[in-house]
Amino acid sequence: MTTKTHLKIVALAGGVGGAKLADGLARCLPPENLTIIVNTGDDFIHWGLNISPDLDTVCYTLAGLANPETGWGRREESWQVFQQMERLGAESWFRLGDKDLATHLERTRRLKAGEPLSTITRDFCQRWGVEPLILPMSDTPLATMVQTVEFGELAFQEYFVHKQCQPQVTGFRFAGADSATPAPGVLAALQQADALIICPSNPWVSIDPILQILPQDGSWRRFPIVAVSPIIGGATVKGPAAKMYAELGITPSATAVAQHYAGLLAGFVIDAVDANLAEEVRALGIQPSIQNTLMKSAEDRERLAKDVLNFVERFV
Ligand code: GDP
Repeated sequence: MTTKTHLKIVALAGGVGGAKLADGLARCLPPENLTIIVNTGDDFIHWGLNISPDLDTVCYTLAGLANPETGWGRREESWQVFQQMERLGAESWFRLGDKDLATHLERTRRLKAGEPLSTITRDFCQRWGVEPLILPMSDTPLATMVQTVEFGELAFQEYFVHKQCQPQVTGFRFAGADSATPAPGVLAALQQADALIICPSNPWVSIDPILQILPQDGSWRRFPIVAVSPIIGGATVKGPAAKMYAELGITPSATAVAQHYAGLLAGFVIDAVDANLAEEVRALGIQPSIQNTLMKSAEDRERLAKDVLNFVERFV
């Protein structure tokens, strides 16, 4: 069932958390009213293949192809190639399933032939039956680098998957931010948008790279922006966001996320367990909304998306 048919929404998303709300929004809005801009700061080359982890997570999720247990990769996956690659001594810290491999093989072939990532993604989405527009934030590289105490600067997947988020974080760098530009369609979608929703993704490494690629004069911000907290009860549902806040000397909380985005937000959705933080959010000049933000099922995603859209309506 669709709601708020008159609102044109742009959503910013990383991987697992972002994909879940993006899926909820796709269940509520007519496809022509939803554009999802996805982080590509985590993209890297593995086994000679171009991998776009967040983009694939969002596309697979909206296509109904995602693995429901992991949140990443394909459902009903097999691992024949991976096992044979391991046997041949190939690097095995990043798991690629057989179905998933098809995506990377074909994407790599087309990138090498000179097609931009945004065009390839649009074509894949059509073939997978995904109707809302999913855009990589950029067709040009911007690489999220994680600065750590133990290893100095690490490429994102080295930190995230290979080192399992264990190193202590001291900061981040977005390599190529000076030259990378928004993918075709990104600025047009923002120009037409009535509101922007920042999905519950990692602020440091999923959303900040997208914000880095947008014009730094803020000229794109002509609409209300609402974010959903990825931190619930001081902890993350999954991933290192809370650990990153703590290591950077900031107590992890929904308020810390609101502060992170301060200056951008009209409204901020916090979880019911964090209802006591509503006044702190309000003190930042941001309207709080208290909702059940944990998305365990498709129904949860749709319900939260509806609640967020209702909240957004207040500002439009
Ligand atoms: P990644 O690139 O796969 O790490 O994905 P994201 O950056 O999109 O998502 C990671 C963030 O999503 C973490 O901070 C999680 O706490 C948050 N997250 C995951 N699932 C949920 C959920 O159901 N509700 C909320 N509010 N946050 C979630």
